[in-house]
Amino acid sequence: MDIAVIGSNMVDLITYIDKMPKKGETREAPNFEMGCGGKGANQAVAAAKMGASVTMLTKVGDDIFADNTIKNLKKYEINTEFVQKVPGVASGAAPIFVDANSENRILIIKGANQYISPEDIDQAAEKLKKCRLLVLQLEIPLPTIYHAIEFGNRHHIPIIFNPAPATKELDFKYISMCDFVVPNEIELEMITGMPVETDKETRNAAFVLLQKGVKNVIVTLGRRGVLWVTSNDIRRFDAYQVKAVDTTGAGDAFIGCFAHSFVRNGNVAQAIQRAQAFAALSVTRKGTQISYPDVKELSAFLE
Ligand code: ATP
Repeated sequence: MDIAVIGSNMVDLITYIDKMPKKGETREAPNFEMGCGGKGANQAVAAAKMGASVTMLTKVGDDIFADNTIKNLKKYEINTEFVQKVPGVASGAAPIFVDANSENRILIIKGANQYISPEDIDQAAEKLKKCRLLVLQLEIPLPTIYHAIEFGNRHHIPIIFNPAPATKELDFKYISMCDFVVPNEIELEMITGMPVETDKETRNAAFVLLQKGVKNVIVTLGRRGVLWVTSNDIRRFDAYQVKAVDTTGAGDAFIGCFAHSFVRNGNVAQAIQRAQAFAALSVTRKGTQISYPDVKELSAFLE
């Protein structure tokens, strides 16, 4: 196994709108689509589409969405032996609104994802400790995430931590144990409490994480690209120029592809470049997972 993702799955309920309704207003939306999402599942699918062997530890609810989610993970050949159903609970769901400028607004109902516990990691430990990279986000309970970080450290497994969705409640004792922290600008601002209006401010905020012990901070800057900060280097990577249609899931696309590329040869700069190409392609299409390219499409784009 290359990569273990301990994280969320959600059913994306995507409404494409011309204009957001005002308070009390009912508007007709031109289009609606349902898809499989959740930061954990998105990142697992992105890595699997690039050819990684991925195991996903997550929980689904007791509803019509559950089997569909498991079927979807299997479709990408992701190992689902640690995907459990929680009786009497709803699956995670994410109503997403994408406007005419391709900007998105997202609500998250965590549902069964809230039941992913430290004990679930212990039960899967024999298998999980064989992975070469652990990928974590913030849509599952914090004690579970902290337990996963300790587990990773105990077994010398590198950890990619994506502090999304943004929160102020993180315990730096654990975050400092991660090899890669990959926030977008809003998440960086939230976890450090520092402004990120300018490149200089973003660098300073990233340094706060380095001072706490994080080895690599990779800040994703949307269409402006990526900033990679370590204690002895700062590197800026421009994004690929594409026509964005829907940026939902771009961050997850970046992380999943980065994880695969990094686990393959350990080259961080190369993994960032490849992940940016993968994410750029994903924003040219609607949807989250279904917008992710396959290996052939990515190779053609990079030629
Ligand atoms: P989301 O929350 O929508 O999943 P995010 O805010 O976590 O995304 P971003 O920083 O917006 O993540 O995007 C991640 C990466 O995707 C960027 O660093 C960039 O490489 C690529 N990307 C995003 N938007 C664009 C764009 N408009 N054009 C080209 N590349 C893009």
